Amino acid sequence: MLLSKSLQAATAAALLFAAPVFAQQPDIADQTVDTAKMLRDAALKDDTAYNLLESLTTEIGPRLAGSPKEQEAIDWAIAKFKKLGFDKVYTEPVMVPYWERLSEHAEVLAPFTQPLHITALGKSVGTPEGGVTAEIAHFKTFEDLQKADASDIKGKIVFISNRMERHIDGAGYGPAVRARGAGAVEASKKGALAIVIRSIGTDSHRLPHTGGVNYVEGVKPIAAAALSNPDADLMERILTRGKPITLKLDIQVKHHGEVEMANVIGEITGREQPEDIVLIGGHLDSWDLGTGAVDDGAGVAITMATADLINRLAPQRPRKTIRVVLFAAEEIGLVGARQYAKVHGDDAGKHHQIGAESDFGAGPIWALASNVNRDSTFVVDKMAQLMRPLGVLRHERKSSGGPDVGQMGRAGMPTLDLMQDGTDYFDLHHTADDTLDKVKPEHMRKNVAAWAVFTYIAAEWPGEFK
Ligand SMILES: [Zn+2]
Repeated sequence: MLLSKSLQAATAAALLFAAPVFAQQPDIADQTVDTAKMLRDAALKDDTAYNLLESLTTEIGPRLAGSPKEQEAIDWAIAKFKKLGFDKVYTEPVMVPYWERLSEHAEVLAPFTQPLHITALGKSVGTPEGGVTAEIAHFKTFEDLQKADASDIKGKIVFISNRMERHIDGAGYGPAVRARGAGAVEASKKGALAIVIRSIGTDSHRLPHTGGVNYVEGVKPIAAAALSNPDADLMERILTRGKPITLKLDIQVKHHGEVEMANVIGEITGREQPEDIVLIGGHLDSWDLGTGAVDDGAGVAITMATADLINRLAPQRPRKTIRVVLFAAEEIGLVGARQYAKVHGDDAGKHHQIGAESDFGAGPIWALASNVNRDSTFVVDKMAQLMRPLGVLRHERKSSGGPDVGQMGRAGMPTLDLMQDGTDYFDLHHTADDTLDKVKPEHMRKNVAAWAVFTYIAAEWPGEFK
């Protein structure tokens, strides 16, 4: 294409101006673009990702952090990587606290009697044997609990009823989830005996959403549980009668201490710069209630299948190494990812050149965000252009790299976010309803198509994203 005279002049001026500030970056070769397109189109006819997810959810199922089922999942992943023909398959050890749910039960005793559907929050302590029975202290939000007087809470069970809003990008989760993560400590500081929260989820099913609760040194840990959303509605309706609620909560758990698990790693070795890494992956553990199909079996399967597709179909191995990391124990506090960043953090932005994570369910990708340096933005723009037929838009927000890979992002590695449509994700998240039937095979294919464009170009383009 010919440039106009003035545009040529402007371009020359921009180059002159830019030269001392930004390094010259190589173009993306036509061959690279053609191969990326070929991989994208092939992915749309390939069910490897769905088949991996079907296998993981059928043959392993729930894989709670630290449990024997997480170890089974690790063994599954090693075997699958090998069977798919990855060049290197290995593990890195991670010490993981193993918390186990034994039983959970709650009922309203007054002013009416009603059984409730609840689940203990992950890592919660138990109630005393036989449960705890007390009056409810109700707060609409975590912030209301923070402002409350201890005299209104002492000796009671705190109930926080905040509702999570539905958004395509999960923007409602952050504000709502404080009640789950920090509610127990705040309630305990003010003398509460236990805490129940409205589930952090957007559905109206009678399935409560679990998820981690945090305790801090020096504050007595109290039992913490989530009510299903219809049960939280029920509690609120009872409260409108103007009489106090008496609740009985009985949670029994077991803390087994720390056990050794592992991050599982599969690599396609780069042909020219094998020491340089494109890092992709998801987390292998799941909560215990469902079979971990959308959280995060989908991400595991999508990223494994992406590297496999490139390994099988690209005319030669990409220039740089594709490393798929399946992180341990994400759900109970990013344990595997933190360990990975402890070991590899010094390399973030050096040989670990760029990374991305799939951990937002199995919905189609609708946007691509990045935080690469200015002079490699054109590469991400090209990726987005090649993903356009899949319905992907270029997003202006800065990427985080996801919960696990984002730990390396924080240490200085550039990241991309392949943003999935999460409109329905929090209907299923951390519930017994997180099962394979919710996943559409065509969505898995479209995910791999987009991931293949990103992963292949990132690994083949000779420039640097930092
Ligand atoms: Zn997850």
